[in-house]
Amino acid sequence: MRPHRAYSPGLTGVLPLRESRHLLEVLRARVGDRFTVFDAEREALAEVVELGPPVRYRLLEERRPEREVGVEVALYPALLKGDKLAEVVRAATELGATRIQPLITRHSVPKGMGEGKLRRLQAIAVEAAKQSGRLRVPEVLPPIPLGEVPEAAQGLVAHVGASALVREVLDPLKPLALAVGPEGGFAEEEVELLQEKGFLPVTLGRRILRAETAAIALLALGTAGEGR
Ligand code: SAM
Repeated sequence: MRPHRAYSPGLTGVLPLRESRHLLEVLRARVGDRFTVFDAEREALAEVVELGPPVRYRLLEERRPEREVGVEVALYPALLKGDKLAEVVRAATELGATRIQPLITRHSVPKGMGEGKLRRLQAIAVEAAKQSGRLRVPEVLPPIPLGEVPEAAQGLVAHVGASALVREVLDPLKPLALAVGPEGGFAEEEVELLQEKGFLPVTLGRRILRAETAAIALLALGTAGEGR
């Protein structure tokens, strides 16, 4: 079987059905095949002992790789049209976000999110955590109105026309909260409200980025660009 990481909460020795099916139907697993299992706290080398489904496995060797940024990283992307948040959640998970909570803003076209879509975004976060070798799956939470964003110890809001650079203002030791606007941008009062909550407006360069590109760029500057 080719190398694989499977999400198995609690490392109980039994794979969830979705993971089991992937192992059996896509990877054609056989008894004795080895793969990696992980949950929010642990990662281990495992061996298939029974195909099921569900696939049963035994743990061979536990590992503790460091894949986290080292501080909490909350991303507040505005609600976006269509399936664009899926791209944001996937990339944000790869880039180390620990919490993703969409915002209902004045210019967001969608004004809410159904249960099904939220669950799908959560499943995307699990997949992206697996793919990027993370043990911790970021929380993906239901949207809140922008006015309910909690105070940030260190907040950055991407805003067209701002002049501060992320690298000039970033304190890598402090938890980070990042806000990005919708397709139509933030209203000026919304940026002011975020500023009152501790968010500093920052630029992402001279070009106007799509909202989903902006979320990825802002996170990349706060995490990957710092080598973490
Ligand atoms: N006309 C809108 C405006 O002026 O805000 C454009 C919105 S842009 C498509 C969507 C979001 O991406 C913005 O609200 C902002 O958060 C972020 N963004 C895009 N380009 C940016 C840039 N060059 N600097 C900072 N933020 C940017």
